[in-house]
Amino acid sequence: MTITDIAWPERYSAHMMKTIATPQRMLVRGEGCRVWDSEGREYLDFLAGIAVNALGHAHPALVSAVSAQVATLVHVSNYFATPPQVELAERLCRLTGAGEGGRVFFCNSGAEANEAAFKLARLNRRAGPSRILALKNSFHGRTMGSMALTGKPQMREPFEPMPPGVEHIDSTIEALEAAIDDTVSALIVEPIKGEAGVIDLPAGYLARARQLTEQHGVLLIIDEIQTGVGRTGAWFGHQHEGIVPDALSLAKGMAGGVPIGALVTFGWASDLLGRGQHGSTFGGNPLATAAANAVLGEIEASDLVGNAARRGDELRGIVDDLRDEPGGDVLGELRGRGLLIGIGLNRPAGHAIYEAALEAGLIVNAPNESTIRLAPPLIVGDAELDEFRQRFAQALAAVADH
Ligand SMILES: *Cc1c(COP(=O)(O)O)cnc(C)c1O
Repeated sequence: MTITDIAWPERYSAHMMKTIATPQRMLVRGEGCRVWDSEGREYLDFLAGIAVNALGHAHPALVSAVSAQVATLVHVSNYFATPPQVELAERLCRLTGAGEGGRVFFCNSGAEANEAAFKLARLNRRAGPSRILALKNSFHGRTMGSMALTGKPQMREPFEPMPPGVEHIDSTIEALEAAIDDTVSALIVEPIKGEAGVIDLPAGYLARARQLTEQHGVLLIIDEIQTGVGRTGAWFGHQHEGIVPDALSLAKGMAGGVPIGALVTFGWASDLLGRGQHGSTFGGNPLATAAANAVLGEIEASDLVGNAARRGDELRGIVDDLRDEPGGDVLGELRGRGLLIGIGLNRPAGHAIYEAALEAGLIVNAPNESTIRLAPPLIVGDAELDEFRQRFAQALAAVADH
């Protein structure tokens, strides 16, 4: 018997680290908003690798940019500059509004972008020990520093002690007002808490946070890893509130699936990290930055930010229509913005709906038992929305029968 005779779920569970349950499907190919599994079944992908495949699968702009770059120069180390890296830094400073005073540090993931943000926070020296404010139930990553920022005690506890100084506060303006003063180095927030179940901040939170952080010399760091790059119908989620932060962390959708992360700083925050204080071997390599240039270029050229806003509204309308269909009574409140949608459930049916959707040829996600998260590629159009309506209705009906 050769290894290929053994079913893949057994091979997976034999040698993959036990950090996640063995997946139910093996995917082998994708095109546009669709993927195919190893048995030849087709799925409409309304998760996009958790808000990563911004251009869907096998988009010609990404395929040609990556193919050309891999045939030209993949990696050179940060002892050398490359054209795609410099172009991407300029592009990010323009798109974020960081402009002339903006600077970018490149890395390879969201957690690493938040590690850079954590180090930035430590460099904003205050009297006394470093204090960093983060929100309860937030998610900022799985490395020690980004996990210390993450507001989920059950994720942190097995790995304690954490890097010290992080305080997790309630997501209310009152809690922020009570916690902030001149001894705080930084406040880090997600515009919408994606992993927590697509939970919006209270109205006016970011505007008040900007006032208070400015008043007390506190860095306002926005984690845009899930909400950034057009996902919410603005280039970056915080822009809906009209505020200007001191730093942004980015990753997920930025290079359409090629690993990349970035910390973008604004104004005085751009002078905090100095020579020798941070680095990454792969960070900002020409392959990843060429991929990001292609993705961001296509988002701009095809107005996919506008598409995310419009399609997001249509998708909310579709979900609302399904309330009257069989099984639709499970659908509760709609949260999120643009193409990052959290559907609250009236009973704990997240996993059942996820599985029924898979059976119906639809990929969605249940970040918890009372939420279905939708995060389709930013390129979704009429045909995909119609198909979503049919397949999601089928999934809801199947769960209603139980
Ligand atoms: C996904 C995510 C991260 C972590 O990114 P990784 O690339 O998995 O390290 C951090 N913050 C937010 C808001 C995220 O959604």
